[in-house]
Amino acid sequence: MPTPMEIFKLLPKTNCKICGEQTCMSFAFKVITRERKLEDCKPLFDEEKYKKQLEELINLLEPLEKATETGLIVEEDLCTGCANCVVVCPVHASEDPYGMGSGKGPTIENPILLIENGVVKVINMLLCRRYGKERILCVACRENCPTDAIRFLEE
Ligand code: SF4
Ligand code: SF4
Ligand code: SF4
Repeated sequence: MPTPMEIFKLLPKTNCKICGEQTCMSFAFKVITRERKLEDCKPLFDEEKYKKQLEELINLLEPLEKATETGLIVEEDLCTGCANCVVVCPVHASEDPYGMGSGKGPTIENPILLIENGVVKVINMLLCRRYGKERILCVACRENCPTDAIRFLEE
């Protein structure tokens, strides 16, 4: 996960305010919290002299791009489709006791996680305990993944 300072160092650092922020440092913080997108810094994309910095920033921010609304990232390359994460998710257990108890997997319409073609897919993050203002930093799926295929942007 990149730090605001790492992002700041690669920005134009002119404090031009085109992005709507007072300073490039403030913009860097908001990129991390996803209140701003890199594309909001127009000079970075429009001016040839920032091309190399832009490439570095895109690479640096790749983990953010992969993350869902709750900061959960699934590394599909590492997932074996074991379904541990699906089974231990407390929301699945409480919302769908029949499906989870029967071993059939989630039977509700939009579960958070589902195994498709041998890999876990994030279907509906709105149900996740990490979503929204009242969120709880649940880690059950990650803690029970035997291959470290799940991680979070913030703990
Ligand atoms: S638009 Fe870019 S260069 Fe201008 S203040 Fe925002 S981050 Fe800095
Ligand atoms: S963080 Fe918790 S609630 Fe969210 S998907 Fe993982 S186990 Fe389920
Ligand atoms: S617990 Fe890990 S390996 Fe198993 S399905 Fe979930 S993400 Fe994939």
